[in-house]
Amino acid sequence: MNRNLWTKRRSAESFCLLLLLLLLAFGAAFLLRHVSSFFREDAASAFGEKGYITWADFDVSLEALEAAYQWDVDSYGEKDHVGWVELLAYLGAEYGGDFSDFRASDLKKAAEQVRRKGTEKLRKDKKNFRYYYEAYSAALAGMVGEYEIAEEKKYGLKAFSPIAKGFSYTAYDDFGASRSYGGERQHLGHDMMAEAGTPIVAIESGEVTALGWNQYGGWRVGISSFDGKRYYYYAHMRKDRPYAEGLKQGDIVTAGDVIGYVGRTGYSATENVNNIEVYHLHVGMQLIFDESQREGDNEIWIDMYALTQFLDRHRSEVVRNAETKEWTRRYPMKDPLTEALK
Ligand SMILES: [Zn+2]
Repeated sequence: MNRNLWTKRRSAESFCLLLLLLLLAFGAAFLLRHVSSFFREDAASAFGEKGYITWADFDVSLEALEAAYQWDVDSYGEKDHVGWVELLAYLGAEYGGDFSDFRASDLKKAAEQVRRKGTEKLRKDKKNFRYYYEAYSAALAGMVGEYEIAEEKKYGLKAFSPIAKGFSYTAYDDFGASRSYGGERQHLGHDMMAEAGTPIVAIESGEVTALGWNQYGGWRVGISSFDGKRYYYYAHMRKDRPYAEGLKQGDIVTAGDVIGYVGRTGYSATENVNNIEVYHLHVGMQLIFDESQREGDNEIWIDMYALTQFLDRHRSEVVRNAETKEWTRRYPMKDPLTEALK
């Protein structure tokens, strides 16, 4: 073979090889993008054939909650008011529910889009918006709005931190951590370590739909939101005197009311037993899109860590009655949701 020809053939071969490699690289990149968006879509189309949401995560970051809330409050009363749920739903659809790369500039874009198109149009046109809108509405719907406290009308955050003002606590993101009592299971809530007897406050207004002993939670209170979408679970309350005096099932509570006291009851089939090591409040939020999700294998519990951090800006001030040793809220509040029931 002619040496010249041989060199030519070799360079042609390496060119082909390079082309093949390039094609492979592009193919892999395309596939990766495609596959990840496929999974994302899959999560968001959890409406499925059932017509309601069958799974939801709440991974909205503290930063995004704060920024969206600020936008909501700042634009309130203006004709271009945009609610925080719509903003977060728009971003949820953009991010595929993962807020770890949240940027304030994205929020600005979201506000423009929501303002221009409106919720109804976005529900129809924007991919996955409907899913995130319904999921985040379920989690946040009762938290921001008009209310009256200490006879002053306000608009803003009307939900409270579950730990009363002036009481300290520590916490970290412990959602989904494994627990061994009662077999291997996941921690479906958030623990807030606080001193024994710390007053626990209702995060949101609602109806007391559960109260009493529960093997895992010890003395616990369950409060359902008026729209039926949220169920708040407060557990491990104080031995002997767990609840706010007189609190019973069927009661209507207003956000910020004292409902009970921090303890360490639970992990026992026998009532009124302190079997939890550390004094803390376990608080959980369950989302209910359909009655079949209220109890059993279809329950949806969400991570409340960022949410409780956000709620820390709104703590309920309480006063102690020296005689009864009971704590009650200092400032009466009127929540339109509660008032509507009267
Ligand atoms: Zn817990």
